[in-house]
Amino acid sequence: MDFKSYIRDIQDFPKEGVVFKDITPLLKNGEALNQTVKALLELLDDKNVDKVVGMESRGFFFAPLLASKLGAGFVPVRKPGKLPAKTLQQSYDLEYGKDMLEVHQDSIKKGDKILVHDDVLATGGTALATCELIKRLGGEIVQCNFLIELTFLNGAEKLKEYPIKSLIKY
Ligand code: 5GP
Repeated sequence: MDFKSYIRDIQDFPKEGVVFKDITPLLKNGEALNQTVKALLELLDDKNVDKVVGMESRGFFFAPLLASKLGAGFVPVRKPGKLPAKTLQQSYDLEYGKDMLEVHQDSIKKGDKILVHDDVLATGGTALATCELIKRLGGEIVQCNFLIELTFLNGAEKLKEYPIKSLIKY
């Protein structure tokens, strides 16, 4: 399937100068959605996964679908203040300033095999902070898996200590 034909560029979103990869045309097409889930699973060499971790918010589209197919659980990583129970926090650098991600402390136990999924790998800051949270809880990352990798932003370099795979590259 030509996955790229279901991704559209939106100019100047969310701010001027940014070309945003919009995945909603892919999400709304039943056949494309189904083929994408299959293809993301085929990126996995080792399907022995206990939990799929997805990042707020667009990581939440596919991570639970992948978890369901793998017989694994789903764990959300969220922006600060959204998760109700005790959390572990990780701050990370943005182009201008800092941001933070959180995960529930009891969501991952030592030795859990973890698949990390997000829709887009851009600079890698989000994925690296997520991997750090997982490591701090004792999880073992089997793969960081992305629908789209913006290779010109070099996120893969930031994540070089982890196995990463992406379905679509620009
Ligand atoms: P990073 O931390 O790698 O710079 O940015 C990745 C995060 O930003 C992901 O959670 C992703 O959802 C979001 N993101 C950045 N650029 C885009 C884009 O062009 N399209 C979409 N759908 N998400 C993006």
